[in-house]
Amino acid sequence: MLTIDLLIDAKWILPIAPKNTVLENHSLAVHEGKIVDLLPANEAKEKYYADQFLDMNTHALMPGMVNSHTHTPMNLFRGLADDLDLMDWLTHHIWPAEGKIINPESTALGAKLAFAEMIRGGTTCFNDHYFFPDVIAKAAKEIGIRGRIGLLIMNCPTLWAKDEAQGIKACEKILETNDDFSLTEWAVAVHATYTASDHGLATAKRLSDEYNLPVHMHVHETSAELDIEKKRSGQRPLERIDHAGLLNEKFIAVHMVHLNDEDLSRVKNSGCHIILCPDSNLKLASGIPPIGKLLEITKNIAIGTDGAASNNDLDMFHEMRLAAILGKTTAGDPKRVPASRALEMATLGGAKALHLDHTIGSLEIGKSADMIAIDLDHLFTTPNFNPLSQLVYSANRLQVSDVWVAGRQLLKNFEFTRIDVQKLMMEAKPWIEQARQFSHHPTST
Ligand SMILES: [Zn+2]
Repeated sequence: MLTIDLLIDAKWILPIAPKNTVLENHSLAVHEGKIVDLLPANEAKEKYYADQFLDMNTHALMPGMVNSHTHTPMNLFRGLADDLDLMDWLTHHIWPAEGKIINPESTALGAKLAFAEMIRGGTTCFNDHYFFPDVIAKAAKEIGIRGRIGLLIMNCPTLWAKDEAQGIKACEKILETNDDFSLTEWAVAVHATYTASDHGLATAKRLSDEYNLPVHMHVHETSAELDIEKKRSGQRPLERIDHAGLLNEKFIAVHMVHLNDEDLSRVKNSGCHIILCPDSNLKLASGIPPIGKLLEITKNIAIGTDGAASNNDLDMFHEMRLAAILGKTTAGDPKRVPASRALEMATLGGAKALHLDHTIGSLEIGKSADMIAIDLDHLFTTPNFNPLSQLVYSANRLQVSDVWVAGRQLLKNFEFTRIDVQKLMMEAKPWIEQARQFSHHPTST
């Protein structure tokens, strides 16, 4: 018999690859942080001796969710200002609040709150876009969550950098320092075309080429964004991005709500990755991405929550459900984005967009043991005719019972193993009080 670290018998195993597969009476074997086998349960018992054996006889085991667009420290601003349009929300509430309280200490705290929320809800990997990326990487290492963290290029004065040039210098310094963050990798994060100079876009291209990094950017989120770019450069944002040489298979385009035929043709020719954040788009009334058309032309679509300030949660189950339902609606076809496709977008699709699919996104031999168990023996998911359908259309994130990243268990039988959430919430209170002066809650329309 072979000795391994962990053997899990699960009622259902959804490996995501191969597509649309639900295995029953199977076991998953993990050793030294990696998946080493996936086989019928009766064979596993004869083949392996495991230091830890888990019998999850009411659970579905699947890869961890990949939240493909986050602003993790913005968990400090959840519900700060609601019911506003994007530009008003950003310029009169979020940016002033960030100017007042975002520093390395508050950034680390906000990020850790987000990591705890994501782990509790079954997310094992995130794609972040915020100030102080090195601080976020250190916080992620402390918590043990996987991620790709954006090095921010933005032409606005912030506490992270007084202007774009200083921000670029800080990004270059982080890349040159090359600290060991085994679970996180870098991306170039350009906020949007309306906050990027031509030099900023050219620098993003240079850093992406030099360090082989994906470029993560908000694109065509609102109609106002298109108007600003039209006045400034006479171009559509995607056109300007294309002319800067950024629109290729390394480009991660977030939102993509307002697209004409010319934009869609650029997407098709580039092989870029699309990240849908439907909850944020709907709440800010930015619009609905043409998911039906995007499904026909894009190489890969993934899902993100956006920050807790605009969503107002980091619930990938909710986001996945919305993406599936809007996909059907925009295609005019309820057969589009079936449950298996939605689950793939939230896991392997995210891994592909983040260029991490060699390591995560599916339960395949050789990949990292980044996985979650969901207890489906619950009122919310009864009866259970099909676990795939239950996971996408009915399950609540609080049904996630166990979470592992690289084989290390971060949530065990609904309890955190490494995070003191009450302590984090207490430590956040002074920062939240300072942010309160920027809050906004209209009482009537
Ligand atoms: Zn965003």
